[in-house]
Amino acid sequence: MSNILVFAHQQGDSLTPGGREALVFGSRVASSIGGEVRAVLLGTTSEQSAKEAISYGASIAYNVQNPLLTEYDVDLYVNCLSHVFQQTNADMMIVSFDRMGKDLVGRLATRLNASAITEVVDFKSDDEKLTWIRPIYGDKAFGEYQTTRPKVIVGIRQKSQKAAVPDEHRFGKIIPFEYAASEEEIVTKLVVKIQAALSDVRLEDARIIISGGRGLSGPEGFTELQNLANLLGGTVGASRAACDAGWVPSNLQVGQTGAVVAPDLYIAVGISGASQHLAGITSAKTVVAINTDAEAPIFKRANIGVIADYKTVIPALTDKLKKV
Ligand code: FAD
Repeated sequence: MSNILVFAHQQGDSLTPGGREALVFGSRVASSIGGEVRAVLLGTTSEQSAKEAISYGASIAYNVQNPLLTEYDVDLYVNCLSHVFQQTNADMMIVSFDRMGKDLVGRLATRLNASAITEVVDFKSDDEKLTWIRPIYGDKAFGEYQTTRPKVIVGIRQKSQKAAVPDEHRFGKIIPFEYAASEEEIVTKLVVKIQAALSDVRLEDARIIISGGRGLSGPEGFTELQNLANLLGGTVGASRAACDAGWVPSNLQVGQTGAVVAPDLYIAVGISGASQHLAGITSAKTVVAINTDAEAPIFKRANIGVIADYKTVIPALTDKLKKV
């Protein structure tokens, strides 16, 4: 019988997609090996997201109400999550491996002397022994892993779990949890926030993404992609080469070391299709590639390929859509 603690991250009055996904995965593990899912929510003053956590499978939702935890801070969150983990005698913690999870998993494992496993998409169980499944070699294969320490911190790959239907009538307890967070715990302080993204929509949540790469030759090309994205109701992404060149902010990067996305439509413009980029779009439903090089690897992944200069295709497409 395992005690599974899920970090149910919430924003405002509801859970984030990553928070829900971590709960869905935690519930699957609990029903496979026998166990109880307990959610931990940080900084919330409303019970709405705690109720949502219960509807997604938690038996208990620990509400840690402290205004200092309302804004994400890695030091505070590691201290608080470790404290809840220890106080509740948890065996494993499940966290969405989103941008925040990438910050947290290794630190939590070190703090709790636990094993860490990241980018997990699935698991197998045999006599309560868990085997974690994660993509390897830039998503070309899957590896199966077992952890050796008694405790484990599991980072779930974003968008890897099937959406679950919440059960609003599920019974569970909401328990306020005391944690005396203090300013002194913040080792690295946020001094300035800079508006960086071209769009308000998070790449991870976008249904349509138009990404640009080095083939755009400069930041101007991204203005054209943004115009097209506005017409399609989409958002703009980028390859690492375009981000590293400083043409767009790094939070637009898609790929292994950027955002892992799962849109209905992904348009890759002037992107060659390196394995590290493709690792971020494995769950994209339809991929359209626009590239001058017929041999570019992106065409192997694309459902629709356009061998052409983007400077002719994008303005023509934009004009056409304006007339629709
Ligand atoms: P290029 O590979 O230079 O491709 C540019 C493409 O544009 C070419 O195919 C060219 O034919 C085409 N082109 C040129 N002119 C035009 C035109 N006028 N119209 C249309 N097409 C044109 N990369 C990521 O993207 N995301 C990651 O998360 C990531 N993580 C990495 C992690 C590690 C550890 C490492 C080592 C690398 C990582 N990379 C990542 C980098 C990756 O290996 C590639 O270098 C990068 O994706 C290349 O970007 P690109 O496709 O924009 O550029």
